[in-house]
Amino acid sequence: MPDRKESESRKLLGTLREALAEDSAGQTRLDRVTHLIADSMRTEVCSIYLFRDVETLELCATEGLNPDAVHQTRMRIGEGLVGRVAGRGKPVNTANAPQMPGFRFMAETGEEVYSSFLGVPVQRLGETLGVLVVQSKDPREYSEDEVYALEVVAMVLAEMAELGAFIGEGQALSARHQQPAMFRGGVGQEGVAEGSVYLHEPRVVVTNPIGEDPKTELIRLQEGVNTLRISVDDLLSVSDTGDKEQRDVMNAYRMFAHSRSWVRRMEADISSGLSAEAAVEKEQSTARTQMNQVPDAYLRERLHDLDDLSNRLLRILTGQGSETGAEFPTNPILVARNIGPGELLEYGRSLRGIVLEQGSVGSHAAIVARALAIPLVIHAERITTEALNGDTILVDGEKGVVHLRPEETVANAFLDKIAMQAAAQERYVTLRDKPAESLCGTIVSLHMNAGLMADLPSLVNSGAEGVGLFRTELQFLIRNKVPRRAELATLYSQVMDAAGGKRVVFRTLDIGSDKVLPYMKPQDEPNPAMGWRAIRVGLEKKGIMRMQLQALLRAANGRPLSVMFPFIAQLDEFRAARQHLLDEIEREKLLGHIVPENVEIGAMLETPSMVFAPRQFFELADFVSIGGNDLKQFFYAADRENERVRRRYDTLNVSFLSVIERIVERCNAAGTPVSFCGEDAGRPIEAMCFAAIGVPTLSMRPASIGPVKHLLRRVNLKDAKAVIEAASDSGAQSVRPAVMEWLRGTA
Ligand code: PEP
Ligand code: MG
Repeated sequence: MPDRKESESRKLLGTLREALAEDSAGQTRLDRVTHLIADSMRTEVCSIYLFRDVETLELCATEGLNPDAVHQTRMRIGEGLVGRVAGRGKPVNTANAPQMPGFRFMAETGEEVYSSFLGVPVQRLGETLGVLVVQSKDPREYSEDEVYALEVVAMVLAEMAELGAFIGEGQALSARHQQPAMFRGGVGQEGVAEGSVYLHEPRVVVTNPIGEDPKTELIRLQEGVNTLRISVDDLLSVSDTGDKEQRDVMNAYRMFAHSRSWVRRMEADISSGLSAEAAVEKEQSTARTQMNQVPDAYLRERLHDLDDLSNRLLRILTGQGSETGAEFPTNPILVARNIGPGELLEYGRSLRGIVLEQGSVGSHAAIVARALAIPLVIHAERITTEALNGDTILVDGEKGVVHLRPEETVANAFLDKIAMQAAAQERYVTLRDKPAESLCGTIVSLHMNAGLMADLPSLVNSGAEGVGLFRTELQFLIRNKVPRRAELATLYSQVMDAAGGKRVVFRTLDIGSDKVLPYMKPQDEPNPAMGWRAIRVGLEKKGIMRMQLQALLRAANGRPLSVMFPFIAQLDEFRAARQHLLDEIEREKLLGHIVPENVEIGAMLETPSMVFAPRQFFELADFVSIGGNDLKQFFYAADRENERVRRRYDTLNVSFLSVIERIVERCNAAGTPVSFCGEDAGRPIEAMCFAAIGVPTLSMRPASIGPVKHLLRRVNLKDAKAVIEAASDSGAQSVRPAVMEWLRGTA
């Protein structure tokens, strides 16, 4: 690092520190900052542009341009050179600005006389807050040292903006974290919620971006890095399970913590005048910008490691632990980059909603959120940088939208929606003990899906007839080692006790694909959803499956038991799985254990292949449960986790309904009970159509039972069937429009 480079920015930061420490209004500070930068860099112009809203930048202060243009001149991202700096998040440095492609001349600023232009993004943790620009008349390209100096200054400005140093008049100058913000993400779990932000890991606030004495800061950094390295080594030795791949990943993480070049870059930043923590943030910010641009997943993961380490180092340097003493609000909405299933379960049902920056529909967090019926929005980009503890937040898990610090009108409309839903839920309570009997006298059997012991009270509250699907993955996912048979047996037995004699259908372990157990070697599969998962794992890793079957038999302790196997794709898989259970029953008998008086062995129908399975499949199964989530994804070849394609194909398309109808016919022909337990069973219109074409039993989230029952009781399913048949014959792609029109006229 050349000395000049360091001294340029150190000098500038020294003067800035004084200006920023002054007790003056935001605008005065900004004006002073532009004046000092122009003076120190010997340029005629220095201007600061900040975002007015998510797309528009506003000139907020200037030295050299026409002062009347301040708060008047605006441009969109990508517009002109300033917009380009903001859009790309990278500097633009040119001796001849008017010749640059995309140059746009802002007449009111009087900038036409300035030839050279250097603009750098004002960024905090990869997020662009504005643009800092210097301009001069003489056509010169700014030196590398000058670019670096301006970047360091921009970093300090970003920190100061974060702390509200520039609060003043004009929207763009109000402190960040005060304006309303909307995030469009993806649906993780449906439902709407209103509450206060609770950050899973609150951001570290850097209050001293400019270092007073580089020597002191260098020592602080060195000590911080040493502590970090020791803590990482400790962490890794404790969590080492001996698995080679896991160890490789850990070693990469450790390597970063010991990276010399990372430390060298931070040391250079300190020499340029930054404090130790600001240096960490500057490098973290660069890594985050890269992270957003790197297409390679492996590299992105590594950059993610660096981001993680930076957070740890920042906490060490600032003494701000994740335990900040922030009060847990009464109506908490958890906001996090990502969260593990165990951590989420610890928060449990106290949460009103969850918003994640990452995650996916099938991630463990989503599975837990679904099990807990907590509205979840995923992929809400940048929410952890925007949200502060205690901020008002509205989560629309139906649309995948989040409103942070909403305007009154938005909040009111949202609250109306919640109130309407709450009123409807109250109405549904009155239906709880009534049958789902349609006007034509058809009675549909409604059951609930569950996955936790904590779900069982819903069996009474919702009026469900039983548990149509008990997903057993969670107990395996939340531990860091395989649960023991006795533990599982106790849990399953408690579930049966809580069900009080109502039927509970236990689905054996459906892991693999997206549901990777922490203690299982991850499979490097190009298409995990179609890979080594569910029964395919069960039939090969017989130990785990046998252990689970034994736990179920012991839990039943003589009571009737219902077990179903997931993801059966051909007859022999069902035969083999079924035989395993029969063998376990025999073995239990030999060991002198009581075996259930009645064991039902069912299959989940989740692949199109089974619609055309040999007749013997339907005869052998004691019952069939249609796993619509998987069946639909394989039927349409549309990934259920891919937001882009998953909503493209309607469940009520004639083709999909025909498949369901065909399954019902085949089950009826064999005299085998059939049910539908995918998410669509909980959507009233879909549920009604399934019932109309003959599905006698539906299993859904407990909260859906009321709305589904409400609709079923208001319609004549025979008429609905006629509407579906007419629509199917009409050449329509989906029966939905016809069904909706019919409903408007009748129900
Ligand atoms: C399904 O696929 O419809 C189903 C119920 O199983 P899961 O959602 O757990 O894959
Ligand atoms: Mg499935």
